[in-house]
Amino acid sequence: MTFQDLNLIPELTLALDKKGYKEPTPIQQQAIPHILSGKDIFGCAQTGTGKTAAFALPILQLLHTNKPAVPQKTIKALVLAPTRELALQISENFKEYGRNLGIMHTTVFGGVNQNPQVNAIKRGVSILVATPGRLLDLMQQGFIKLNSIEYFVLDEADRMLDMGFINDIKKVITKLPVKKHTMFFSATAAPDIMKLANTILKNPVSIAVTPVSSTTTLVKQSVYYVKKESKRNLLKHILKSATIESALVFTRTKRGADKVVKELNSNGIKAEAIHGNKSQNARERALKGFKDRTIRVLVATDIASRGIDVDKLSHVINYELPEQAETYVHRIGRTGRAGANGIAISFCTQDEMPYLKDITKLIKKDIEVIKSHPFA
Ligand code: AMP
Repeated sequence: MTFQDLNLIPELTLALDKKGYKEPTPIQQQAIPHILSGKDIFGCAQTGTGKTAAFALPILQLLHTNKPAVPQKTIKALVLAPTRELALQISENFKEYGRNLGIMHTTVFGGVNQNPQVNAIKRGVSILVATPGRLLDLMQQGFIKLNSIEYFVLDEADRMLDMGFINDIKKVITKLPVKKHTMFFSATAAPDIMKLANTILKNPVSIAVTPVSSTTTLVKQSVYYVKKESKRNLLKHILKSATIESALVFTRTKRGADKVVKELNSNGIKAEAIHGNKSQNARERALKGFKDRTIRVLVATDIASRGIDVDKLSHVINYELPEQAETYVHRIGRTGRAGANGIAISFCTQDEMPYLKDITKLIKKDIEVIKSHPFA
């Protein structure tokens, strides 16, 4: 199947050619025709499946084809995302896919001065990508009105609930017009997610691709059993291998991330940390360096990692295993994206064995144990 088969307009297919996309991913094949025909969507899909384009492309097309004769300054499409990184990533996608359309969009998120965001809104945008807190803040100050919204996307709803955004989301929803076209995406279909979905969606079409328990087969997974005090030496040992072009290393805590970075840098391995205590500018700088390949290792906590989308990321290393098995799937899904091969390495101490057990139960397969290493 091609993008033309999905009845996308040439302005979009040209932009996709430029991105190097050859064919639509399964979620795009399934979702785009329904969204174009005006149906609400419940999409069960994790990041890495191409879900952003699955909603961004039809929204751009609908905004373009239904463009009013006289330009208006009202916001027509709202995308809510749990983190700043994901919001920026989504905006970047709207920019790239919409490069031939001239549809204005902007992003609002907390942790930075609001003035540039307010100015962009005042100039007039059709698409707004936002995190819930800053959106509500700017609404309360009267800078943002949602009464003209025609398209509403709730992205990574599962993560929104995990992060405690449920009340913020409900507040936003009450301000949206009753008649709108809603697209709801979540990596899981847990009961609380379904409850929220049922309150917003009208006769939705349900689409599910790669449920969270099926880790992508393109990612080669392995585990190293190691003592806690030997983890840093094992990490340095593994990173010495030249085959590791870039590695995203996960720790459970912010302090842990900083400690790993310090250790690596003092051993000549260029690393940066990305977590909630870092300023937005520092986070963006670190992410940019990692994407540009000037920083080889990025050490992240889970919340900060949402939305990190790096082309051809070769390795994900779980320095510490996550307490939630689903988080493991999200983490390793950062590599092996859109058809590329990836490698996921996990370190596991005696204390972390129960987490590993939960993970193998969720993904329904064993993870290869690497026995021959100097810190076994
Ligand atoms: P997402 O799940 O939206 O975060 O997308 C994951 C990655 O896949 C991003 O790097 C996208 O640029 C890329 N991508 C999305 N759709 C396609 C496609 N049809 N072909 C190739 N890559 C894609």
